[in-house]
Amino acid sequence: MNATDAAETARLRKIATEGVRAMIALTGDDPDRAGLEDTPRRVIDALIDMTDRPGDPAALLARVFGEGTGSGQMITVGPIPFDSVCEHHLLPFTGRAWVAYIPAGQDVVGLSKLPRLVDHFARRLQVQERLTEQIADAIATHLSPVGVGVKVTSTHSCMAVRGVRKPGAQMTTTALRGVLLTEPAARAEFLDAAR
Ligand code: ZN
Repeated sequence: MNATDAAETARLRKIATEGVRAMIALTGDDPDRAGLEDTPRRVIDALIDMTDRPGDPAALLARVFGEGTGSGQMITVGPIPFDSVCEHHLLPFTGRAWVAYIPAGQDVVGLSKLPRLVDHFARRLQVQERLTEQIADAIATHLSPVGVGVKVTSTHSCMAVRGVRKPGAQMTTTALRGVLLTEPAARAEFLDAAR
């Protein structure tokens, strides 16, 4: 972080601290009481930690191994646990993702790369539908496979503890590309593996 970035971060943290203090006051509590003194800093640090978006899709998917069979078989990784932050409420949603692709040739990506790709798109302010699409698009763009399938199932705290208050209700989203979109057999194979 350079000096300009550090100064800007310090400026924003000061404003954010006041913001969290105001939110505490809105709940009818006293932001100056002992137990809440350090809460704004913790809230800010937690949000930054939850949105650290590790990795870079182009770099993650750049290294391929010529170890695929070249036979057009599907590779599925999952369930991949992830944590994300709902951009509407800044509350966490957590779940599992399945990621599948059919390599165009013999180039396959290392197994650890796909969980990291999920983390890259999950660990930011997000909505589940876009998370699912972004993972699929990154694989389609960087690996140019014959087909891609992504399925995400998660529970949203904002649905559990506020609003409709339905804890445990799961949301499932799917993004399909290439033959997984156009060929029912490939789609069925993916959806069967992603359970
Ligand atoms: Zn929400």
